[in-house]
Formats: sequence, structure tokens, C-alpha cells
Amino acid sequence: MTAFQGKSVLVIGGSRGIGAAIVRRFAADGARVTFTYAGSPEAAAQVAAETGSTAVRTDSADRDAVIATVRDSGPLDVLVVNSGIAIFGDALEQDPDAIDRLFRINVHAPYHASVEAARRMPEGGRIIVIGSVNGDRMPVPGMASYALSKSALQGLARGLARDFGPRGITINVVQPGPIDTDANPAEGPMRDLMHSFMAIKRHGRPEEVAGMVAWLAGPEAGFVTGAMHTIDGAFGA
Ligand code: NDP
Repeated sequence: MTAFQGKSVLVIGGSRGIGAAIVRRFAADGARVTFTYAGSPEAAAQVAAETGSTAVRTDSADRDAVIATVRDSGPLDVLVVNSGIAIFGDALEQDPDAIDRLFRINVHAPYHASVEAARRMPEGGRIIVIGSVNGDRMPVPGMASYALSKSALQGLARGLARDFGPRGITINVVQPGPIDTDANPAEGPMRDLMHSFMAIKRHGRPEEVAGMVAWLAGPEAGFVTGAMHTIDGAFGA
């Protein structure tokens, strides 16, 4: 397919899981894709070799590095901010530095990357941030920092949609439910509890999320902005 032929796409966090599926989708659709990674150089090299995309090591916790990578990627038609981490456990026991790092990766990086990308994004540009259904619904204890970070992305999209809309640039949040990745394996210990909340009782596939991202990045979605798009088997319903 050539739906994104000639388009320049940057995926923040593309070495594994949902991000790698997004890289594969845009590359298969003809885009020129750059993606970042931090801790998985071998996985990144494999995705780059397989797709013909460019891998750049950039820690999403490092604000200045994120901004520099977006700037150095040139004018982008599409920015996808996917990198994200979760910390589980008793809020009273958690390391505050680790929590602040989560906020840098999950909240600060999407904000700064989006603003930097918009500086040179052409009319029709697309910004897509990977949030979570946990931005809407947090049915278990021990994940308040993660839920907070994903709710924050809703405000990010609503606000920046106002800033960039006059230039024809859209910004949207994709909110997955359980998706089968290293971070949330389909056969993991939380499987039955998560499926009990769902109408479609299975983990989603990274490719299903990538499909929603591709639609939001495409020409049919030019009137869609400042909105949350949940893909969760009704986890949050
Ligand atoms: P994985 O842990 O499987 O993959 C995470 C990806 O993000 C990897 O490519 C990783 O790269 C990258 N990443 C993580 N931290 C950093 C960092 N500091 N700097 C740069 N890149 C980083 O996660 P998923 O694919 O499952 O999740 C992707 C996104 O989807 C996240 O935002 C997550 O919150 C969200 N999500 C996932 C759900 C799920 O059930 N899987 C459900 C709802 C939302 P590297 O290893 O190279 O550091």
C-alpha cells in the first residue's frame, strides 16, 4: 500500500510492542519512518532493518533530547508519541524519583514533542499520542501515577487542538485497553482480571492499535481533533 507515500513520520518509542507495530504499518504504507528507542537497541535494529526505517536512540525521560530529536527529524507530516511506562504497587511505598521519571516519559515528552513538531508541521499534519483507557477508568489499586499520566494526555489533546487547529493540524489520543505486548502479555498474571472487565474477552493486538493510528493520520480524519479514541474491547464501557 502507498497511503503514506512521501510522508515523513516520527514514532517516539518504536522498538517494541505497539510502537513497533505503528512503525511497521507506516513503513508498509510507504512512509519515510524514523523512530526512537532507549533500552532495546537490538529490537530497534531489527525493526529498522525489517522496515527500512531509521532508529535513533533518545530517552523520552530527557526533555532536551526529545526536543532535539524531533527538531532534527525535519518537518514531519505525522508525529506519534507512543513511549510510556507503568509503575505498579502501593503508592505509599513508591520511589518519588521513579514516579517523576514516569511523568517525564508519559506526560512531559508528549507535550514537548508535540509542540516542537508543530513548529514546522505543514497544513494537514497529524499528531497522535498513545494514552490508555486507564485515562478514563482505573479499576484496580496501585496504578494512580499511570492513570494520572494518561488522563493528562486528554488535556494535552484538547488544548493543543485549539492551538494548532487553525493551521489544519490535528492532535488526538488513542486509548488502548489490554494489548498483547511485553508490558502486558496476553498470558500474564492479570489476564483473567482484565478480561473480566471486558465485552470482548481477549487482549488486543498491536496491529489493531496501529490501524486506528493510521486512520487518524490519514486523509479521512482531517476533521477529527482534540478527541480520545478508545480501542479496548469495552474495558472502559
Ligand atoms: P512496551 O513496554 O511493550 O514497549 C514500550 C516501547 O516504548 C518500547 O519501544 C520502548 O523502547 C519505548 N520506551 C519506553 N520507555 C522509553 C524511554 N524512556 N525512551 C524511549 N523509548 C521508550 O509497551 P506497549 O507497547 O505495551 O505500550 C506502548 C504504549 O501504549 C505506552 O504508552 C503504554 O502506556 C500504552 N498502552 C499499552 C497498553 C497495553 O496493554 N500494552 C494498554 C494501554 C496503553 P525501549 O525498550 O527501546 O526503551
